[in-house]
Amino acid sequence: MSARSIIPDLAQFEVWFATGSQDLYGPETLAQVAEQSKQVVELLNKSSDIPVKIVWKPVLKSSDAIRRFFLDANSADNVLGVVAWMHTFSPSKMWIGGLGANDKPMLHLHTQANVALPWDKIDFDFMNLNQAAHGDREHAYIESRMGLPRTTVVGHASDPAVQKDVGTWVRAALGRWATRSMKVARFGDNMRYVAVTEGDKTEAEIMLGVQVNTWPINELADAVHAVSDADAAALVKEYVELYDVADELKPGGARADSLLYGAKIEIGLRSFLEAGGFSAFTDSFEDLGTLRQLPGLAVQRLMADGYGFGAEGDWKTAVLVRAAAVMGAGLPGGASLMEDYTYHLEPGKELILGAHMLEVNAALSSAKARLVIAPLGIGGKEDPVRLVFTADAGPAIVVAMSDQRERFRLVANVVDNVPLPAAMPKLPVGHAVWKPRPDFRTSATCWLMSGAAHHTVMSNQIGLDVIREFARLSRIELLAIDESTAVLAFEQEMRGNAAYYRLSQGL
Ligand code: MN
Repeated sequence: MSARSIIPDLAQFEVWFATGSQDLYGPETLAQVAEQSKQVVELLNKSSDIPVKIVWKPVLKSSDAIRRFFLDANSADNVLGVVAWMHTFSPSKMWIGGLGANDKPMLHLHTQANVALPWDKIDFDFMNLNQAAHGDREHAYIESRMGLPRTTVVGHASDPAVQKDVGTWVRAALGRWATRSMKVARFGDNMRYVAVTEGDKTEAEIMLGVQVNTWPINELADAVHAVSDADAAALVKEYVELYDVADELKPGGARADSLLYGAKIEIGLRSFLEAGGFSAFTDSFEDLGTLRQLPGLAVQRLMADGYGFGAEGDWKTAVLVRAAAVMGAGLPGGASLMEDYTYHLEPGKELILGAHMLEVNAALSSAKARLVIAPLGIGGKEDPVRLVFTADAGPAIVVAMSDQRERFRLVANVVDNVPLPAAMPKLPVGHAVWKPRPDFRTSATCWLMSGAAHHTVMSNQIGLDVIREFARLSRIELLAIDESTAVLAFEQEMRGNAAYYRLSQGL
């Protein structure tokens, strides 16, 4: 990870662990409840699948304490979410005030201190101490009654499947943290006449917390043109160390000036984003102002450092790229703008070639990228510099967000990136080649039936499970296309969703 990365250090985050009980049980039992809930937290903290620290909090026994717990969690920016477990019976009317005030993602952990029942020793004291089996049902009732979104995980805290599910939810909660702290800078507006990249920015701020606002491209161009030759030359030196740079672009080469200018774009763009506290941005090849090149290399480098990006004014994909980068923090791979570009249609062996004009994140590949210059063909500017690579073979996911008037819809497809069937020596852009699950015809049929966008985020760090939890806790529709998808059932799900989301609107 580069020193300039804005992917957050996960050591700063906490998830708070709430244990529910009540005073009725007396001090001796409550001391055991506290002790055993600490052990549950310890088991979770030992798991490498859970990427942030779970913090045990004193056992909650009254309405006032519960409300205070949630207010404190709300006000702590480094608290990603709350795990709740009713070790004993914690009457749920006590939770109404606190849950109503809660603003953090919730996980209901339905667990128990012991794995085995002590058959020969069990007495009624044991029964009284270990009654999550019904205590948690009382808790789930009030969460359902209040219509609260939450993730439910069932099983002993030592079970790797339980730990993995908790870790999945933590990564989704990281996505929620990312969107709620996200400021998106749009340089210029949408590509003219394009529909799917449009959307309701006010609704996005209400649902996701993202702030999306526009800046004139020439403010960015001015920042780029203020960069000194010496600073740009120092960055070019870094490029030469990191990438396989074409000779004509190297210092002294025939087109060295183009790479020097590319470095100025990166420095100017990065300083603009840092100064404004932006973690995502868009541009538009139709509105480049006085910039001499469409930003290619610079955008690729910023995505690798955790910035979200969408081309042609596509702020919704910029949001997804940033959120995916944060949800994948610490995992190998990356998150990138992707676009379904062109197909290999050999029956039964269909493949999708994905790329963009320039802006694909080289973190999708573990190989050394080539840094080259080539004509763009549209936009009427100078030839842009860009990184060229093939995404690593292996599982990945593509996710699109579209505005369906009364709601945002996420559509996710589980895919398998494949090695190139043959070299593509003449294609001068970063790219991925994949086989969609369950098969090409089902995937593309469902994608088109759902009106999902041609721009996506591709991540080879996180899977559908994380996206599903992210959609759940953000209260956003998700349609998933994976190995279990069939067209007719998918259509039925869309019909059900249409009714649900239209009926669940407010006044
Ligand atoms: Mn595009």
